Amino acid sequence: MKPGIFFERDGILNVARVERQYQVSPLTLEEFRVNEAIAPLLSKLKAGGFLLIATTNQPGLSRGYQSRRELDRMHEMLSRKLPLDDILVCPHDEIDRCPCHKPRPGLLVEAAFKWHLDLDRSFVVSDKWQDAEAARTAGCTSLLVQSPWIGKVHHDFVLPDLEAIVDKILQLRTAKREVAA
Ligand SMILES: [Zn+2]
Repeated sequence: MKPGIFFERDGILNVARVERQYQVSPLTLEEFRVNEAIAPLLSKLKAGGFLLIATTNQPGLSRGYQSRRELDRMHEMLSRKLPLDDILVCPHDEIDRCPCHKPRPGLLVEAAFKWHLDLDRSFVVSDKWQDAEAARTAGCTSLLVQSPWIGKVHHDFVLPDLEAIVDKILQLRTAKREVAA
């Protein structure tokens, strides 16, 4: 089984506009800005043997303000510009009580099943508490970028930027290997 790294989409892999202190998901390809600066960091992690998976809540799909076709076009661009292995979407509204809407861990569990991932050796990278909570429930290690949305739930690390997060992951992986040896 391989370890994976789960990345929150908005605010990590693409730029998210902030309105009244909330991040707003882009709804069209035209608005979609991939954070291309992260590509070399992702390649470094991929070379380290990790599977790279994006996860995102897109309740606009059920509420009707996000078109599936437009979302597919955005994700096509995301896969073209960043070395991701998969992009998993929760299309439900919060009130649907589905198992995959973060902070619930359904997307992580689905990915583990699909890609044969070892969740205990996997990491979650985000700027929001919902991902840290999903990580905790699924048994992954969470690393958050310092932001106004990290909340007060359990998280394993808060670091200033993605570069520091990538260094931390590589360091933790080495430490875990030494323990296992
Ligand atoms: Zn869902």
